[in-house]
Formats: sequence, C-alpha cells, structure tokens
Amino acid sequence: MKVGIVGLGLIGASLGLDLRRLGYGVVGVARRQDTCRQAVAAGVVDSGSTDFEGLKAVDCVFVCTPIAAIAPTVAAIAPYLSPETVVTDVGSVKQAVVQSASHHWPRFVGGHPMAGKTQAGLAAAEPGLFAGRAYVITPLDQTPKDAVAQVAAIATDLKAEVHHCSPEAHDRAVAWISHLPVMISSSLIQACLREPDQAVATLAQQFASSGFRDTSRVGGGNPELGLMMARYNQLEVLRSLHHYRQQIDQLTTLISNEDWTALSQWLEQTQQARPNFVPPEAPSPQ
Ligand code: NAP
Repeated sequence: MKVGIVGLGLIGASLGLDLRRLGYGVVGVARRQDTCRQAVAAGVVDSGSTDFEGLKAVDCVFVCTPIAAIAPTVAAIAPYLSPETVVTDVGSVKQAVVQSASHHWPRFVGGHPMAGKTQAGLAAAEPGLFAGRAYVITPLDQTPKDAVAQVAAIATDLKAEVHHCSPEAHDRAVAWISHLPVMISSSLIQACLREPDQAVATLAQQFASSGFRDTSRVGGGNPELGLMMARYNQLEVLRSLHHYRQQIDQLTTLISNEDWTALSQWLEQTQQARPNFVPPEAPSPQ
C-alpha cells in the first residue's frame, strides 16, 4: 500500500518511519524543499515534494499539519486525489476538524494517535511512537465503512490500540486527560514563576526533580499545540477547567480547615483511581 503524509513534523515523520519499516511506500509533502530533503535523508519518506502531484497515486493520505491547517489542507489536496483515496488526519481535536474536512472529502476519516513528545519537528521523530498507545478513530454516520476499516488496519499495523467513538465523545474525553493537563501543567509553571523571593525561586529550580518533571512536562511542550487545543476544543476545555477549579477550591478549604481526615480520604481516593487511567508503574523517588 502507498500512503501520503502531508506535514513532516513530529507526528508525520514518526508515522513515516514506522510505515516505511512496515513496507508501505511513503510519499511526503512539506512546505519547504529543505524539509523534504531531510525527510528522505532520515528515512522518513521514500520521496518528498512541496506540491501535491505525488498524492495522485496513493491509497491513503495522513494530514499531519497543525490543527488549524488540517481542513484547508484537505480542501487543497482534494483536486489531486483519485476518488477511492482515503484521507485521515492526526489532529488532537476532532469535532471541528471532522465536520469541515468531511465536507471537502467524503472519504475523510478523523483519527488521533494518543502519542506525543515535548519536542516538535522532524528531528524529534522516533520509531515505534504509536505502539501500545490508543489510536482513536472518529467517523461520522455517513463516513464510508471501508475507509474507516482502512485507517484502523494501518493503525493496527502500527501496533496501536484502536478505538472508535464520535468526534464529540473524543473531544470531551481528551479534554480531561490531555487538554486539561496541558492547562494545569502550564499553570503550575506560571505559579512557580510568581515566587517573589529570587533566592527561593533559584532554590526551587535547583531542587526540581522527578515529581516536577512529571507534572510540568506537558505544560512545557509545544505552545502551538496547547493553543490549538484551547481554540478548537474551547467548550470542553472550559468545562473541564471549571470542574478543576471546583476541586482546587475544595482542596483549599480542606487544608485551610486543617481537615486532615478528609484530605487523607481525598488522597486515598486519587491513589486508588489513578490506575484506571494509566497502568501502575514502578515507584520512583519524589
Ligand atoms: P510539528 O512537529 O510542529 O509538525 C507540524 C508540521 O506541519 C510541520 O512539518 C510543519 O511544516 C507543518 N505545517 C505547519 N503549518 C502548516 C501549514 N499551515 N500548512 C501545511 N503544513 C504546515 O507538530 P506535531 O506535534 O507533529 O503535530 C501535528 C499534528 O499532530 C497536530 O494536528 C496535532 O494536534 C497532532 N498531534 C500531536 C501530538 C503531540 O503530542 N505532538 C500528539 C497527537 C497528535 P514546516 O516544517 O514547514 O514548518
């Protein structure tokens, strides 16, 4: 099978590395010739181009641009594709993207591999990024079943765990476990920057270890990604932030009232609940 990848950044290039290793033919499209050359040299694509001509011969196109550019890219490539070509994307928000992109291409299938890194760009690409991670596919009622099956088959080849749900359910679920964490994590870093005593601020930076590394990681990532999450999933991000603020208020009250029993129950509940979201890991030093 031959695939096209438009946007050779972290996700697009990581896909290319895996798909080529699996024996797919990979045609890359980037905005700059220099990116195409780098992608070929890094083994990310078989061939790269700054125009869409090469997409004529592919079975499936992955649009891996920033969220704002996904639907316009689908519109731009549509005249070059054969009618049977499946187009999918990897955007972190689905409702706005899927509605608009499906309008431009009826065989569009929304997708979101739940895998990423703090770094962006082609140089950060790594093989096996999607293995063992959820890969969410978000068809509309009218999305052709064979197109959905094709994207699911490729995701399965990547050793990802395939899930299907509506774009709305996706956006609500990822607000909790992906978009809200970015907002909380960035707020944590912002709060630390508010320490008025410079000597204490410096000590905090020197003392920061694994606990801070874990909790600040997504807040210290690609700013464009967080901005797009907030802009394109605004309602769900606001809803989750509202609930989160209620929890912060409750926590503040417990500590102010020195209600150590209730605080202990609160922390026991979160300790028990965490494995429902992420598998237990080996204990690490705080
Ligand atoms: P990235 O590393 O910044 O790569 C984005 C790529 O898109 C770059 O190659 C860039 O090309 C290209 N691009 C930027 N603006 C464009 C435009 N207007 N038109 C065409 N191409 C454009 O970002 P990424 O992390 O791979 O994210 C790409 C997509 O994956 C996003 O939709 C994001 O929501 C989704 N996603 C990200 C993660 C994550 O954790 N990073 C996880 C899952 C899904 P140039 O090299 O020319 O600038």
